[in-house]
Amino acid sequence: MITDSLRRGCVAACLVLTAGAVQAADIVIINGDNSGEGLNDPTPRAPVSGNPGETVGAQRLNAIGYVADLLGSRIVSDVPIVVEVTFSNLRCRSTNADLAAAGPDRLVSDFPGSRPGVFYALALANAISGGRIESAPDISAEFNAALDAQDNCLGGADWYYGLDNNPPGDDLNFVSTATHELIHGLGFSSFVDLQSGEFFMNLPSIYEVFIRDLSFGTTWPNLNSNQRAASAANDGNVIWDGPSITPQISNRFSGGRVGSDLQLYAPSPVEPGSSISHWDDALTPNALMEPFVDARGDVDVRNGIGLAACVLADVGWTLNGGVGCPDDNGAGIPAPGGSADGSGNTDAGDFMSGGDGDEGGGGCSLGRGAPDPIWLLLLLAAAWRLRRSAV
Ligand SMILES: [Zn+2]
Repeated sequence: MITDSLRRGCVAACLVLTAGAVQAADIVIINGDNSGEGLNDPTPRAPVSGNPGETVGAQRLNAIGYVADLLGSRIVSDVPIVVEVTFSNLRCRSTNADLAAAGPDRLVSDFPGSRPGVFYALALANAISGGRIESAPDISAEFNAALDAQDNCLGGADWYYGLDNNPPGDDLNFVSTATHELIHGLGFSSFVDLQSGEFFMNLPSIYEVFIRDLSFGTTWPNLNSNQRAASAANDGNVIWDGPSITPQISNRFSGGRVGSDLQLYAPSPVEPGSSISHWDDALTPNALMEPFVDARGDVDVRNGIGLAACVLADVGWTLNGGVGCPDDNGAGIPAPGGSADGSGNTDAGDFMSGGDGDEGGGGCSLGRGAPDPIWLLLLLAAAWRLRRSAV
């Protein structure tokens, strides 16, 4: 078995949030921030809908805990999914910003239940194999703290940590953004070098198995690197070829499809951090996994994760009972400010000592109004720390 790590350095002791809701997967949040910053930011802030936190840090913890509950209600895993979350000052200008970056911390191949010679995100590999393959966090997610701290960032817009999908003015919906990011970490991600077309460590990921180029008439594993690089920018001709997207489903969309196939985002030139790992921004109606906030609109994740459930099912996740493809009826979604069973939402009482503070990783950078160079930087930084170990 090959395990590849996208890990970076250690930051501080870690607070673990355990979700109180009855879930199909227990998504555990590790607080990777130092005291006084990020998830521990003591700046006072008035409570908002469904989020009683009275500081910026408390609201962030409540909101990410809610996202963990929500996403954990959509999928099944006997192995807890560990997500390390940090807030940092990412790039932010008056008109565009990197909102967040996230991805699997590690990719794993050739474990019990896997396709041979195919990489899987660690959380998915754990779920398929039924046991924890690596003790590392499964997912790393980083969010832009500058939104809350700087008035010149996106014209003064802040994160909105309410749970009611109703951000005021130009404020950004943290819950939907964080849900988007964590879904990347579950395996909604390509790891191909978009410039060279080379697979990460020369193996396709399970996500890439289902990418089809209509011009070449075949899927990415059947293309050589040069062809894949061309395909990555073959706008309008790259589609998701997973079995769950049936004509019955694709017919619901009036934009972003070719015949009965749904397009992936493949602009020319490629946009690192955005290309291929998202639906085409032409998708109509909008979907959660489009690359830009402005393109996907205010998708309300309280109704479910939409087409993302289809992709997760195709790559190997078992969807929780009541969760369909697409996931759009809200079945079993935790109630705002609490949980589906009324037992309360986040419980910040459990600590994990000695946890490490990995951050970065590959995957997505979700931007507003611009491509996302930060993603490339994170991936490169992480790649220098790649580790291969036999398990
Ligand atoms: Zn994304």
